[in-house]
Amino acid sequence: MVKLKKVLKKENNNKAKEREKPLIIAGPCSVENYDIFEETVAFLKECGVEYIRGGIFKPRTSPYSFQGLREEGIEILKSIKIKYNIKIVSELLDLRDIESLIEIADIIQIGSRNMYNYPLLKEVGKAGKTILLKRGISATIEEWLSAAEYIALEGNSNIILCERGIRTFETYTRNTLDLNCVPVIKQKTNLKIIVDPSHGTGKRELINSMSLAAIASGADGIMVEVHPNPDKALSDGEQSVNFEEFKSIYKNIVNLYNYI
Ligand code: PEP
Ligand code: MN
Repeated sequence: MVKLKKVLKKENNNKAKEREKPLIIAGPCSVENYDIFEETVAFLKECGVEYIRGGIFKPRTSPYSFQGLREEGIEILKSIKIKYNIKIVSELLDLRDIESLIEIADIIQIGSRNMYNYPLLKEVGKAGKTILLKRGISATIEEWLSAAEYIALEGNSNIILCERGIRTFETYTRNTLDLNCVPVIKQKTNLKIIVDPSHGTGKRELINSMSLAAIASGADGIMVEVHPNPDKALSDGEQSVNFEEFKSIYKNIVNLYNYI
């Protein structure tokens, strides 16, 4: 196991930790336009979701797929954030966009593809924002924690880990959600860990079950892709849930979290 320095290592404190609410981050894979994003945010806010996700720089496997609204997306995030008083979670892909993203994001997401991008990790370590560090698609827990340590060594230990599935021989699902990592991270570190069942499964019909499994395994929350019309989404529609589905998942998660 990675040799964690003081910043991330599990501290033995005997004080009973106050239990917070589950961290639920929801929203579209990509911000597609003002109206769809606003409709989604208005619905999620009504449900009680405080943290809204929305990618504007999209790391797509195919260069011909929708790449995100980029600068136009920044403007949309900015005005919706003010109008609805929400917290924004959005992915930083490229160091050149760090300043504009810092301005509007409350949590900066480092995606799976950039988990090994050490210069980027070091820079976000200096950004003074909470970092959501997704697990690399083939990263071991040790490599993932080392990546977190890169951020922490720059003085920022406000890091939330996000398990989003790893690549295995199984092809029925997009990735294999490795819930083993949740109790391991809890045993080894004081970091928060959430689970992304959208990328972890690639299938919307599995999101409810795997969200509940994530909470049962001890995760601090989940991140889910939500779209008003998933079949029409410009990215990741097959793993996005609609409003009605999300409402029921949200209720189930909160009930289970309060029960355990
Ligand atoms: C995303 O959250 O939309 C995303 C691209 O995730 P990942 O980096 O886990 O593939
Ligand atoms: Mn996505």
